[in-house]
Amino acid sequence: MIEILNYINGAFIPANSGTWLANRNPATGLHYAQIPDSDASDVDQAVAAAYAARQIWAQAPAKKRSDLLLQMAQGIRDRLDEFALAETNDNGKPLWLSKTVDIPRGIANLEFFATAILHGQSDAYHTDGLALNYTHHQPIGVAGCISPWNLPIYLFTWKIAPALAAGCTVVAKPSEVTPMTAYLLCQVAHEAGLPHGVLNVVHGLGPKVGQRIVEHPNVPAISFTGGTATGAHIARTAAPMFKKLSLELGGKNPNLIFADCDFDEMIAQTIRSSFANQGQICLCGSRIYVERAIYDRFMDAFVSKAQKLLVGNPLDEHTKTGALVSESHMEKVLAYIALAQEEGGRLRCGGHRVFPKGFEGGYYVQPAVIEGPANHCRSNQEEIFGPVVTVQAFDTEEEALGLANDSRYGLAAILWTKDLKRAHRVAHGLQTGIVWVNCWLLRDLRTPFGGVKSSGVGREGGFHALEFFTEPKNVCIKIH
Ligand code: NAD
Repeated sequence: MIEILNYINGAFIPANSGTWLANRNPATGLHYAQIPDSDASDVDQAVAAAYAARQIWAQAPAKKRSDLLLQMAQGIRDRLDEFALAETNDNGKPLWLSKTVDIPRGIANLEFFATAILHGQSDAYHTDGLALNYTHHQPIGVAGCISPWNLPIYLFTWKIAPALAAGCTVVAKPSEVTPMTAYLLCQVAHEAGLPHGVLNVVHGLGPKVGQRIVEHPNVPAISFTGGTATGAHIARTAAPMFKKLSLELGGKNPNLIFADCDFDEMIAQTIRSSFANQGQICLCGSRIYVERAIYDRFMDAFVSKAQKLLVGNPLDEHTKTGALVSESHMEKVLAYIALAQEEGGRLRCGGHRVFPKGFEGGYYVQPAVIEGPANHCRSNQEEIFGPVVTVQAFDTEEEALGLANDSRYGLAAILWTKDLKRAHRVAHGLQTGIVWVNCWLLRDLRTPFGGVKSSGVGREGGFHALEFFTEPKNVCIKIH
């Protein structure tokens, strides 16, 4: 049994309560590790350490912070295979995906912000020859970083890297469902010689550990990625304390496919955008709208490819679809597939639990393609977050845009067309924070990342993230 520990003030320690939570491997359903069942007292200890370290870290030269983050990136690179296996055992995603996407992206996040911090700039204004104003960006202090289970190290580093680079100390909580790579990252930070108290990681349940981080008076900024309901709860808790909030929440992203697209490329990418990571990516295109002229051709090609996706052992290099993250999540996904059919949807393929030989206890679902149901139905309005897409036909650009925007969510949209004018027109009309045209999940870490409507508040990425973790102060000097 692997024992994961909290990392507080440079020490690896269990929870003060001495109790543990089981951690399961979704590929087998077996309990293989345990994490500290921490509570408010562990968080208070972590915040005290971060608070004590905040000035030393804020005053450290940017080059020193940068070097330490680069060393952490290198530490992950040196143990890439170990990190990838840990991510897969924790999350159920195919090992090749952990190796080629999740872990490299964790490294890239650290390297990106380690170098971005060396290139900051600030505004200066001459005021009618009377005064000089300039903006001083000061680290906000202790940052609370809370992340979900779907892209564990990818999103954990996406938060802690800009926070640390900007000069904040951190109290972080990874998802209790996927704690392993955050634990390994603490080992890497420790070996890199990160000063004690600069990075603190407390494991445990959201309503206990996450809640205390959000409530703590010495944590002025919360960067959260997770579900919309949790984000709303965090916003309610933090608002009366006037905390800074960055909320990256759920999505129900539309994928608009026009008849003039590059059909083969669109099909290949739509398989990815629908089912990558078992459909458990907030950016997956789960509502597919196809121009009627190619609807039948699309359905034939798409269903045929979806049926061939090999579901099973995440360690097998041929596996395309691994296990869903937990039994309760799998049950939720299966319930939505049943609901979509009750709402008038027609299941064209998949949608059932799979029991791969030797992995019968794992949480596998065959990717589901559902025709219909109507746009207002729950299965088209609520986030399912699994290997499930619904497909509808449209006749005009206006209709497609109307269907796409008919959602409480507004994270990302995908658009397939060769018509340049239409691409711009539709991209401008979509109510989302991100639009991918003729591609999906092509990421440049400098770009603003985030959603509108119930998909969140604020933007991460590039200097947006560094700004979040700092407070701009205007200094006005009379010169005349
Ligand atoms: P979740 O909201 O259940 O949990 C996210 C994190 O919040 C976990 O660490 C959890 O322990 C913690 N938490 C739970 N209750 C809390 C509380 N009261 N106070 C503070 N923290 C608390 O989400 P999840 O199920 O882990 O992740 C899936 C969700 O995340 C999906 O909705 C998905 O769309 C979303 N997501 C969004 C993005 C994005 O960038 N917008 C990226 C990935 C995932």
